[in-house]
This record gives sequence, C-alpha cells and structure tokens, in this order.
Amino acid sequence: MNFKSELQTAIKAVQKASALCKEVQANLVSEESMQKKDKSPVTVADFGAQAIVIHELKKTFPDDPIVAEEDAKELGSDPLLERIVNHLESHLPGLSEEEIISTINMGGHEGGSEGRFWTLDPIDGTKGFLRKEQYAVALALIEKGEVVLGVLGCPNLSVDSFNSDQNRGTLLYAVKGQGAFMKPIDGSDESAVSVSDINLTSEANFCESVESGHSSHDASARIAEVLNVTEEPVRIDSQCKYGVLSRGEASIYLRLPTRKDYEEKIWDHAAGYIVVKEAGGEVTDCMGNELDFSLGRTLKNNTGIVGTNGKIHEEVINAVREVLS
Ligand code: AMP
Ligand code: MG
Repeated sequence: MNFKSELQTAIKAVQKASALCKEVQANLVSEESMQKKDKSPVTVADFGAQAIVIHELKKTFPDDPIVAEEDAKELGSDPLLERIVNHLESHLPGLSEEEIISTINMGGHEGGSEGRFWTLDPIDGTKGFLRKEQYAVALALIEKGEVVLGVLGCPNLSVDSFNSDQNRGTLLYAVKGQGAFMKPIDGSDESAVSVSDINLTSEANFCESVESGHSSHDASARIAEVLNVTEEPVRIDSQCKYGVLSRGEASIYLRLPTRKDYEEKIWDHAAGYIVVKEAGGEVTDCMGNELDFSLGRTLKNNTGIVGTNGKIHEEVINAVREVLS
C-alpha cells in the first residue's frame, strides 16, 4: 500500500489544526487553559485541534478508530467549553456544542495489535505552547501494531534551522518505506530530510525536553560526558525534537525516565518515530529495545527513548545503560 490518500488527509488535518493553534497561541489568555486531573495543563487549542483532526479524518476514513490524548470529560462544565465552541466556529462551521464534544470523544480507542488506527496528540508540548515556544500537532497511522505513517505539524519550527525566527512553521512527514520529507506548514515546497552522517559521538550534539520532569537532565549530562559530547544540549518541547533529529540538526535525542512508573504514550512518539526512521535514523528505548506500539495507549514494555542518526546508536545505548544502571 502506498497510503497516498491517508497521507494527503493527514497533512490537511494537521495543517488545519495547526492554523487553529497558531491563532490561539498568538492571543492566549489565562481563561483559555486549565489543569487536567493528572495536573498537566490543557488549553482550548488542545481540544479544538483534536476536534479538527478527528473531523477531518472521519470525513475520509469513517471507520478508522482513533487513539487521541484528550477526553472532553475533563471539561465538565468548565467555561473553557464555551471558548472552544467559539474558536471552532470559523474552523468547523455548523458544528454544535454536542457535536464538538462527541467528535473530541471519538479519540477514546484503546489501540492494540489488530487492524489499523490513528493516534493523535493535538498539541504535543502544551507547556511549550503556553510559553509561546515549540509544540507539535502529531498524527500517525498504526497498522497491526506498526507505525506506517506520521505527520508532525511544527508551527514554530523554522524550515531552515530551529533557532531562526525566519520562515516559521514546518510540516514533517513520512510513510513507511518512502522516506521522510518536510515543507513549509502552509506551502508546497517539499524536500527530503535525512539524519546527520557523523560517526563519532564527540561530534554529536543532543536534544532533550525543556522540562526536567519529562526527561532527566542530570542523567543526560552524565551520558554526554561518557560520549565526549561537548556541545550544550538543545532543549526544545514536543516531538519537534524528532524533527530536529530527522534533518540532522541534532544527532541524539535522549528521553530519560524521571520516575519508574511512567509509561510513555503512543501519541507522544509514533509520528516522530517514523519520521526519524524514514530519515535514516534509529529510535529505541533506553535499553536498545524496539518501541512496541501494539500494547494499547502506552508503550508499556519500553523505558524512555533514545533516538540517533543510526550510526552511533549502539554506542549511545551503551552509554545510556552504563549511566542508568
Ligand atoms: P516534551 O515536550 O518532550 O517534554 O514532552 C511532552 C510530553 O511529555 C507530554 O505530552 C506528556 O505526555 C509527556 N510527559 C508527561 N509526564 C512525563 C514524564 N514523567 N516522563 C516523560 N514524559 C512525560
Ligand atoms: Mg504530548
């Protein structure tokens, strides 16, 4: 299968959701965000982007199940709901409040190893979104437990370099066996992306979360020492890290556990994973094991994440194991 129609639909859905996110981020006020039961933040744009992507997917693939992060139950009777409805008026005209809620809740699928389903993080890196920094709209298709397609909308990531303010907004995407590509988020100028070609870890730089609660900065500093990495880490929120790795702007992505009981969510990794793999890189967990997307909504058999350009993967895994043991 070439997944042509799936890719076209996924790109359109991510572009539309990214447009809403940009609009909300530009004028964000405190009344437009709340705390979820797990204490993580969520905004009108998280719910709105989820509604837009699911609505778009269901138009073309009505029978495909969707595993998405947000659950409208978190909203209860919060005034956020009214704001979501208002924001969506121009994006999903004619949809009632009830229809918006039921669309958001179509993302409650459990995932697993059978058939195919989509997985969506409507705003990955909500903390970055709130800081007006990096975030991503991440959408992937999983078939029989394997990621076959991924699209990352990175509205604040520039096309040329992650620290430039020019040409903001990049879309990165990949289909299994077909390579990885990017283009301006609203444009059509497509180019292939590939990971860095360094062979020595002393020439590598790495990226990691801004939030030390999501990935241990202490452990990564020790790993950098073992690998003779001298460059300061590039800290960015969201799966933009996979984007940066896929186009060779970093050679290592470290996501090192901060708690024993944390299970990584499939929507936090599926799209970025396939973009990096198709760009020639490698992505495993901290022990060097394959990521297993077939076990439900989380990567329950994996611990942390390590992404590299492939060439230095084994050496990086050895250093990670040494430091974490
Ligand atoms: P990042 O922007 O890469 O730091 O990752 C953002 C994602 O981290 C969010 O979407 C959360 O699902 C996820 N997250 C929340 N808590 C943790 C944790 N303790 N360890 C790893 N990831 C987490
Ligand atoms: Mg996320």
